[in-house]
Amino acid sequence: MTPSDLAALQAAADAAAAYRRDIAVAEHTPVADYRTIHAAFAAPVPEEPGDSAAIIDELVRLATPGIRAQTGPRFFGWVIGHSHPVGVAADWLASAWGQNAANVTAAPAAAAVEAVACDWVLDLLDLPRDASVGVVTGATVANFVCLAAARSEVLRRTGWDVEADGLFGAPPVTVLIGADAHATVYSGLKYLGLGARRVREVACDDLGRILPDAFAAALDESDGPVIAILQAGQINTGGCDPFDALVPMAHARGAWVHVDGAFGLWAQAAPARKHLTAGVEAADSWATDGHKWLQTPYDCGFAIVRDAGAHARAMAISASYLPPAEGSDRDPSTYVPELSRRARGFATWATIKALGRSGIAEMVERNCAVAVHMAACLDAEPGIAAVVPVTLNQFMVRFGDDDALTLATVEQIQRDGVAFFGASQWRGQWVLRASVCSMATTMAEGETSVAAVIDAWRKVQAR
Ligand SMILES: *Cc1c(COP(=O)(O)O)cnc(C)c1O
Repeated sequence: MTPSDLAALQAAADAAAAYRRDIAVAEHTPVADYRTIHAAFAAPVPEEPGDSAAIIDELVRLATPGIRAQTGPRFFGWVIGHSHPVGVAADWLASAWGQNAANVTAAPAAAAVEAVACDWVLDLLDLPRDASVGVVTGATVANFVCLAAARSEVLRRTGWDVEADGLFGAPPVTVLIGADAHATVYSGLKYLGLGARRVREVACDDLGRILPDAFAAALDESDGPVIAILQAGQINTGGCDPFDALVPMAHARGAWVHVDGAFGLWAQAAPARKHLTAGVEAADSWATDGHKWLQTPYDCGFAIVRDAGAHARAMAISASYLPPAEGSDRDPSTYVPELSRRARGFATWATIKALGRSGIAEMVERNCAVAVHMAACLDAEPGIAAVVPVTLNQFMVRFGDDDALTLATVEQIQRDGVAFFGASQWRGQWVLRASVCSMATTMAEGETSVAAVIDAWRKVQAR
């Protein structure tokens, strides 16, 4: 540890604090693009050792123009949380402590804090308290892990050991999935040999929620083992499947029910929105994110499985040099695909402690109220129309009922830089798609952003 190493740690902390102080008020001025930043960094491999403090200074100087204000209060692109400052601080320590959080003997504090954080997540989401939880990089991997447990269990019930014998020759598994499911669930099916195309898609309503009659018919027509994939929080509409109706039907058929609830599952943590996910706790597995609505820093997701045995069967790694966990000790790597891994429990623990149950409920409810209000204000403006009713935190509007005008307005908003929104396609048409899921977004910030959207729309019309 040289004086320059110490200076580098201090410089990183100072730069981070200054960035977060400024971003709280900064406008979304356009960021430098990939090529500009790439050109600034492109260089041959350094032949000689460098000075730590100078390296951090250079990183901050060259990268900052390309840092998008994702943690700002008027950022509505994709579905991106705030990276809570205390979560970030805890995450720095996870790096500084340099813990390999694979194994309880190697990293007792990382394993223990993660176990506590997992219990808190189950409590906040009101899921079975004895479910097992794997802390992964995000909902993509959480979906993969949960579906691996599902695959293991539905095949085990037919007498097939998929972990040992693979899928060749196994009884075919039917996968039912809502027609408006997230792309990453199909990735999970792809990785697992279940096939992204070899699924039966079930029809959905205008909010992308599975239609119970269509689901019942699909179950009736399925042979052999069945995995049914439901969703809490459709990426465009925020719609949640009617779990109350669907889960009992699937269970009566002996199906495993998995729920992709990357952000929408957090409706469970807000009493005023919990009716939207009624019945979700009866499912068999759930994927959700920490880095979306819980506001942890990247990367953080949770793979939650009711049947801890199936979860461990699908994921556990054993090797002679890895001491087995004793008694009630919990090895983090038993529930995830990785062995060496980041100690994500520290940031999750710190973020939940900072917000508290009431803070999380208030934030989720506020974000939903802001989304409803923003969509209503925009819908009241001539030429702007809300696409579907807002039930959660996602909303869509179209401009002039026209794809080109809609895309031009989104581009104008991004150029103006007061707020950031992205475009998406819904039912074959381009829309502005907004996600309100940052603890920094207040009603006032929502109104400022609405004004920016209306201003951009007027500019587009004036052309
Ligand atoms: C974001 C999202 C995912 C993927 O989550 P990552 O954290 O990006 O891996 C999956 N499903 C839904 C519904 C999502 O919103």
